[in-house]
Amino acid sequence: MTETPHDAQQHFNTRVIHEGQGFDPTTGAIIPPIYQTSTFVQDGIGGLRGGYEYGRSGNPTRTSLQTLLASLEGGSRAISFASGLAAEDALLRAVLAPGDHVVLGNDVYGGTHRLINRVHGAWGVRNTTVDLGDHDAVRSALGIERTRILWIETPSNPLMKISDIAALAVLGHAAGAIVVVDNTFASPALQQPLSLGADVVVHSTTKYLGGHSDVIGGAIVTSDEELADKVAFLQFAAGAVSAPLDAWLTVRGIKTLGVRMQRHSENAQAIAEKLAQHPAIEAVYYPGLPSHPGHELAARQMSGFGGMLSVALAGGADAARHFAESTTVFQLAESLGGVESLIGYPSEMTHASVKGTALEVPDNVVRLSVGIEDVADLLADVEQALAR
Ligand SMILES: *Cc1c(COP(=O)(O)O)cnc(C)c1O
Repeated sequence: MTETPHDAQQHFNTRVIHEGQGFDPTTGAIIPPIYQTSTFVQDGIGGLRGGYEYGRSGNPTRTSLQTLLASLEGGSRAISFASGLAAEDALLRAVLAPGDHVVLGNDVYGGTHRLINRVHGAWGVRNTTVDLGDHDAVRSALGIERTRILWIETPSNPLMKISDIAALAVLGHAAGAIVVVDNTFASPALQQPLSLGADVVVHSTTKYLGGHSDVIGGAIVTSDEELADKVAFLQFAAGAVSAPLDAWLTVRGIKTLGVRMQRHSENAQAIAEKLAQHPAIEAVYYPGLPSHPGHELAARQMSGFGGMLSVALAGGADAARHFAESTTVFQLAESLGGVESLIGYPSEMTHASVKGTALEVPDNVVRLSVGIEDVADLLADVEQALAR
């Protein structure tokens, strides 16, 4: 693979296509090959070509994804993992020791809460969940001794709450904590947390970055070299690497990230506006609506409002379940961020793991991952489903 010269002057929509993606010098193949290999032949003992030795420690296809992700998030290092939660787990283990404390939003992804609370909790890691919009509550939670991490997710899932990354980064740093932002919902096309003061970005690349619902993956991006070394060591020592084909599929998905996010945002805006007028809908949660409490903040810290929205049904849980089961273009499934539209019922699906906790989602809420199909078909689909 030839090196594409890193050009920080190039714009985002150029870098999504070219960063780390130089053509193959031996054949001229414009797309670098998938290095589907477990090991690398050595020119004499220790004579590595390009530094590669064994697939758990490194693979050129994974390197190309990592170079791309670091550039898009404005970090110096990216490390790509087998899943978003594998990336989170490595980060947590790199930073925390038994007895340490984590502060996280009270509406983080259910799997993140489960990982910190139940998996790391069993090893003596403590956590406090807070409303990230209540900065006094954040400050007092950060005051708990041995707080090492402030964990932010914005927009949050499924109520699309917007948290002020820059202000929270100041609070976190004042308390000596590392500030982590889960940027899965916005993607770097719409929001760049490192430039707002965060120390680490985490991704489920399964979602918008991959973008085609065909691969599970995750990543950590940071400019803190010492932390990146610790995470990379843990990945090497524990092994949750992304496979070459998975890394390649993710790179291929990322090439269209800019145009996809633009269309996701336009379609979601149209659907949010339509549903806000509908008598069967009690509330629409979408940061692109001026009525959304986080609208102005989102307009400041994001360059688009994204493809995720939730609605509360006036008819309660039964109406919500019925709506989620009545769409046809929107398919009933977990996950989000793909080109195809998905619908979900969080309290029994994505957020089942937080049922009965403070993180529980109201049972009349339905979540839509708005895809990039023709908006007229999407509008007709939600209309017919609500009319049933
Ligand atoms: C899906 C998701 C994760 C977990 O990622 P996996 O790839 O499923 O392990 C983490 N955070 C958010 C916001 C997610 O949507």
